[in-house]
Amino acid sequence: MLLLHSPRFSEHCPPPGHPERIERGEVLEAVAGAFAAGGGAVREPRMATREELALVHTAAYLDAIEATAGKAVMIDDDTYTSPESYDVARLAAGATIDAARHAWTTGESAMALVRPPGHHAEPHKAMGFCFYSNIAVAAAVLRAQGAERVAIVDFDVHHGNGTQAAFYADPSVLFISSHQYPFWPGSGADTDRGSGAGEGFTLNLPMRAGAGDDEVLGVYERQALPALEAFRPDVVLVSAGYDAHHRDPLGGLRMTTAGFARLSEMLADAARRLCGGRIAVVTEGGYDLGALREGIDATIEAIERSHHEVP
Ligand SMILES: [Zn+2]
Repeated sequence: MLLLHSPRFSEHCPPPGHPERIERGEVLEAVAGAFAAGGGAVREPRMATREELALVHTAAYLDAIEATAGKAVMIDDDTYTSPESYDVARLAAGATIDAARHAWTTGESAMALVRPPGHHAEPHKAMGFCFYSNIAVAAAVLRAQGAERVAIVDFDVHHGNGTQAAFYADPSVLFISSHQYPFWPGSGADTDRGSGAGEGFTLNLPMRAGAGDDEVLGVYERQALPALEAFRPDVVLVSAGYDAHHRDPLGGLRMTTAGFARLSEMLADAARRLCGGRIAVVTEGGYDLGALREGIDATIEAIERSHHEVP
């Protein structure tokens, strides 16, 4: 397994008291450091290019974010830049593309340990701590380079509205999101299933507040895994948010670290069966630092374990 990480992910600095804080970057740094110390491969990512970002985002939006370079700007009530954020956000998108390309081209797994997160950023706007839609850009790059079917699974406690928006009418990208509902950002009803040719290629799995491992893993068994099987993806990308953990201060679900381990194992096993183990994971939310660390470690262990089993 390859990890993509940069110490620069701690340089994006929202105002004091903001949950998406630099200490989250220090958790990512600690995970990457421990992985490298154990002999694992950790690679420094590069920044996404404007051409890559433009596969998902509008030119006017890319110009607006570029204009925040070197400045601290409040974009909305949740979303702030600091002088380094423009570079760091491009690095997060680049790491996600690199992870996805590694999985797609080598058949090995990869995980991008990044912040800021990406799944709330829509083609034309920043939102919910997110500037670039990291995983959507990565999926679009793989499509442009020849992948015919890309599956995206998002288990962050919040609905991945940005990822959904990028591919809502596109049957070549299956988007599956489990999330607390009703909840911020408000989208993600199970009746939202895609539009036009993309109808049936968006699968929203809303969870009631208080749902725990059994309920979440149950909807993956009954709905997400069969949808993945039917889609036959060339590669599986995962938006890994750990804010569905019961200790998370923002989310209202009750998952445990063992639940994240089991869910990660299910997704890795599905990728092994369906697409030669081509799975790439990118971090999204997760605001309890201990739960974030435990969850990421559980995902890495589960994917490595799955890949060492005989197919
Ligand atoms: Zn979240």
